Amino acid sequence: MKRRTSSSVASASVATTAAIFLDKDGTLIEDVPYNIEPKNIRIYPEVPSVLTALSSAGYKLLVVSNQPGIAHGYFDRIAVERAGNALMEMLLDAGARVDGFYYCPHHPDGKVRHYAARCECRKPQPGLLLQAAREHGIDLSASWVVGDILNDVEAGKRAGCRAALVDRGNETEWLPGKWRKPDLVVNNLDGLLRHLQQKSNVQISGIR
Ligand SMILES: [Mg+2]
Ligand SMILES: [Zn+2]
Repeated sequence: MKRRTSSSVASASVATTAAIFLDKDGTLIEDVPYNIEPKNIRIYPEVPSVLTALSSAGYKLLVVSNQPGIAHGYFDRIAVERAGNALMEMLLDAGARVDGFYYCPHHPDGKVRHYAARCECRKPQPGLLLQAAREHGIDLSASWVVGDILNDVEAGKRAGCRAALVDRGNETEWLPGKWRKPDLVVNNLDGLLRHLQQKSNVQISGIR
């Protein structure tokens, strides 16, 4: 977190408005199930510098998170939004600006009736990404989703994005399916950044 982030973009090749859709738990921060306490948020060390580099290269950064704790009655929307804002402020303090935070409050087995629904926004459905793309004018075919389980991959592929799986050991079922094949498997977000640097003319120096 204390690492200096002196990134500079030599030539950005992101011509259209592309986004990186970011899963939150297990991707940006340590996965503490149903945590909404800002004090328990632990950002992975590589995340701020990678996000800074990606936004410097022209990508919009949009967090997309399932928050079924709302449907289960563990906490309310306000608590989730407070935690989301806390995360975005922590990232900003570390030099990384996120452009949006989207979450699904539903779960089919929820006990809060208003949110007990089989919805289109709970990943692996693509609704959150589609909404974020509409609101930010995103070209989905130029965009990526990154997440730590195959439901993130499926949501991204269904939305027409490419998908990177950050394999931190959190995917345990590996259910197959035509939407569940990642385009890239990496150990952390650094791996996605390096891939994008190689695949395009995006040159970002000083990350490490
Ligand atoms: Mg996750
Ligand atoms: Zn939903």
